[in-house]
Amino acid sequence: MAGTASTGATTVASRVQCTIDFDKPGRQAGYLRAPQSRNTSGWGVVEIPIYVLQNGEGPTLLLTGGVHGDEYEGQITISRLAQTLPLDQLRGRLVLLPAVNIPAVLNATRTSPIDGRDLNRCFPGNPAGTFSEMLAHFIAARIVPLADVAVELHTAGHSADCTPSTNMHYVADPALREQTLALAAAFGAPYNVVFWGVDEGATLTSTLERKGAITIGTEIGGWGRVSVEGVRLGERGVRNVMKHLGMLAGAIDTSQRSGAAGTRHMMVRDAACYSFAPASAVFEPRHLAGDAVEQGQTAGFLHFVEDVDHAPIEVKYGASGILWMAAGPGRVQRGDCVAVVMQDYEAPRD
Ligand SMILES: [Zn+2]
Repeated sequence: MAGTASTGATTVASRVQCTIDFDKPGRQAGYLRAPQSRNTSGWGVVEIPIYVLQNGEGPTLLLTGGVHGDEYEGQITISRLAQTLPLDQLRGRLVLLPAVNIPAVLNATRTSPIDGRDLNRCFPGNPAGTFSEMLAHFIAARIVPLADVAVELHTAGHSADCTPSTNMHYVADPALREQTLALAAAFGAPYNVVFWGVDEGATLTSTLERKGAITIGTEIGGWGRVSVEGVRLGERGVRNVMKHLGMLAGAIDTSQRSGAAGTRHMMVRDAACYSFAPASAVFEPRHLAGDAVEQGQTAGFLHFVEDVDHAPIEVKYGASGILWMAAGPGRVQRGDCVAVVMQDYEAPRD
């Protein structure tokens, strides 16, 4: 099938080729083929794995992993589901992309080694743009319109560790917001973080929300390694979501290691919840992701080990709550975020 994409008033031809028939029942596994002219092959393509499983009546659930290449739990979760789920257990359609940004996945980096771009800042994309823009356009124009519900699986990547969580935007439509909160609760991570007032229009989740799909993201790992707990929560979470949607039989399990019965809804209230490094140095954190912290408490110290006359700088928390994101890489640059604090969810006054 030629990659012709409808984008509103005009029809724009995508340069990405897709041989999957999205309306065909059964199990299909194949590749999106995105052209990349390179020194070894002027007519070369980059192959992006895709699975479509369809059986009987039901909604379409889109699962995406590897939008950032250094986030592994989603890649593992979706690959295993695609390769092991018996088709006769499914009701509805699964569209599974375990390694959306395959150049970054194979390079184990957040950004694409082809054009240096963060795919998740390229939506809705451009069919005549750079490689990442071309790919974003295809996803936005051809894949996103298929989805009734979507789970975009991420972790904190190399730059941080996180308390395992789902996340969602405070979507304007109250009915869609309630459905999204219910979807997050069904996923069953320890926390669900609700955002608002964040300029994230260029992300895949925002693109899905604009289309009207019920959409959550995840942050289920970080520090550039595979989190055992993150994979466990990811695999349980996507199966819980399928059960919630009637796509899979069985009871939803949202029990938590803390003893809690389910997900605690949280929010990142305002700018005070973020702590930034005021200088480039080695950052010594004082807490782990998941710890309870207080406003004014020491978040950590910046050490200037190269300068015998430079005393450490103390970095403080600007808000009380639970440490959601904690710094990871040791050396930080001036302006890097070294801590994000979340608090219990309260709907804002509209
Ligand atoms: Zn990510």
